Amino acid sequence: MAKLTVIKGDITLQEVDAIVNAANTSLLGGGGVDGAIHLAAGPGLVDACKKLNGCATGEAKITEGFRLQSQYVIHTVGPVWHGGNDNEELLLSNAYHSSLSLAVRYGVRTIAFPNISTGVYGFPKHLAAQIATETVQRFVDEHPSAIDEVRFVCFDEENYNLYNDLIA
Ligand code: ADP
Repeated sequence: MAKLTVIKGDITLQEVDAIVNAANTSLLGGGGVDGAIHLAAGPGLVDACKKLNGCATGEAKITEGFRLQSQYVIHTVGPVWHGGNDNEELLLSNAYHSSLSLAVRYGVRTIAFPNISTGVYGFPKHLAAQIATETVQRFVDEHPSAIDEVRFVCFDEENYNLYNDLIA
């Protein structure tokens, strides 16, 4: 059965099979965690992303990790928060689920997620953490031997505390 773990830190430094990027639909790079991942991976990453023809919200695509410690980067697109009546909760859950499904297809056994949509996309952090942990727990319950660890990498104290309370 997979372990769900929580740390405070920088996702680009994680030694896991795959890290997840909170990308935008173009997949051509951006700010926040996306910018940090592209900077750490080097220019090979944007070249690989250019071949993917973007990614719809709630879906996921995969590339190599280039200069990162992780073999793969899984690029997913979380929803922009528009107040909660625009399918945001389902789309956020889909982003986690699509990332995990793709990970399993590539034999990924350890995976790290950032707190998708909780930066410039403005998703309320408490609700996002609830959706993330519930979606991941349900996935690992349904695929009990597929993954060894799902790590939630929190960059800010607020998310770190929220995830610790939910995982405890
Ligand atoms: P989104 O557009 O999905 O909101 P952001 O990159 O703005 O994406 O923020 C998503 C989350 O990633 C935020 O909680 C932000 O604090 C966090 N974050 C930013 N840089 C890093 C990093 N290097 N490692 C892990 N998390 C990060």
